[in-house]
Amino acid sequence: MSTSEELGRDEAPHDQDFPFVRLEEIFLVTHNFSEACKIGQGGFGKVYKGLLGGQEVAIKRLSRDSQQGTKEFRNEVILIAKLQHRNLVRLLGCCDEGGEKLLIYEYLPNKSLDATLFDDSRKLLLDWEKRFSIIKGVARGLLYLHEDSRFTIIHRDLKAGNVLLDAYMKPKIADFGMARIIGDNQQNENTQRVVGTYGYMAPEYAMQGFFSTKSDVYSFGVLILEIVTGIRRNSNSQTMGFPSLTVY
Ligand code: ATP
Repeated sequence: MSTSEELGRDEAPHDQDFPFVRLEEIFLVTHNFSEACKIGQGGFGKVYKGLLGGQEVAIKRLSRDSQQGTKEFRNEVILIAKLQHRNLVRLLGCCDEGGEKLLIYEYLPNKSLDATLFDDSRKLLLDWEKRFSIIKGVARGLLYLHEDSRFTIIHRDLKAGNVLLDAYMKPKIADFGMARIIGDNQQNENTQRVVGTYGYMAPEYAMQGFFSTKSDVYSFGVLILEIVTGIRRNSNSQTMGFPSLTVY
């Protein structure tokens, strides 16, 4: 990967330690963002697989019309670049060139937890031991974000789709686009712009916009219910007619 030094100061007026990858290099490894290289689609854009410097990577291409503007992009880049924990997805580099915004992550072969948890044949891969170790791994990642890293970070969109599984089914928390850093002595914050996923959102956050590390813990609770029952949070066919898993 090219470093910002190689690109020169004028082209990359960013953090000198962080690897900025050239757009032409990304075009090359994704065969011009071909459908064959596409591995996923999220709310903010498509995800491609590629080989960069001999390493398998997942490249998230933020759609030009996505809500995730420059602000969220920079937020995600600056945040994750500073974080390192075995239960967090590693951000390896990024590209902010020619109107494109791309994030380059380590590639996780077992995709997201929801793709396994709610798939009739793949869910058999998750015995109790694995489910318990996934819960513990997510808890460790969350504890790091909340208490052990240099900042207090609130994820704000913890859900099965944002937990990726590595080759050994070890979980890694992904998607920090909505994350927030709060001050050391601050317990909570209020926002006009509630982001997240219904069903995982703590009531006080969904209704009044108050969020804190506790709103992440609420989402984590919903995630535990899903991991233990194998039932989606918003399914009413599997929850004896109750409107959702949490109500059930
Ligand atoms: P949303 O953006 O609405 O939260 P999402 O979390 O599913 O949805 P993305 O984070 O963009 O959206 O990911 C889309 C899909 O791409 C994932 O479900 C996963 O299958 C795949 N993917 C994302 N990152 C990686 C990665 N690092 N390694 C392997 N696959 C990945």
